[in-house]
Amino acid sequence: MLIPKLEVAIGLETVHPEILRKLNKRMTLHDFRNAVEYLNQNGIRSRAFILLRPPFMLEEEGIEWAKMSIDYAFKAGVECCIVIPVRAGNGAMDILMEKGDFKIPDIKSLEIVLEYGIGLKAGRVFADVWDIGLFSQCKKCIDQRTKRLISMNLNQYINEKVICNCDSGI
Ligand SMILES: [Zn+2]
Repeated sequence: MLIPKLEVAIGLETVHPEILRKLNKRMTLHDFRNAVEYLNQNGIRSRAFILLRPPFMLEEEGIEWAKMSIDYAFKAGVECCIVIPVRAGNGAMDILMEKGDFKIPDIKSLEIVLEYGIGLKAGRVFADVWDIGLFSQCKKCIDQRTKRLISMNLNQYINEKVICNCDSGI
């Protein structure tokens, strides 16, 4: 018999305090920690949504802050993290993009963050691969990279890197 287990998803977004505030989340890091602690005390598992490269970040910063956000979420006691590359395509993000405050992240950055998260062995880490083609400029390796992400999601194991001509530049 399957016993359904309740699991609550919480959008942590980022542990960058300034940017968390700019995202207009009415949740502080303190609130997040308290919520996870409360859920754990009541036997309810939680998963955290973490953004890869929210607005106002460069690519490298996006990677570093996503890693730090994963660290934070696991320390707070979540069971699982889901890394979401930030997309354009809604009004607010499009305006930020026009102003130069936002650029969509690269699929390679998502691979780096997923590798990091799985490597921690602190819990499961998944990359959100919905519409993942948006995050690649290279038609040659996009299928391989997508397959790699899906396989790492499923197996929670760091697969061999994809080698491509586009590797030099993120
Ligand atoms: Zn490529």
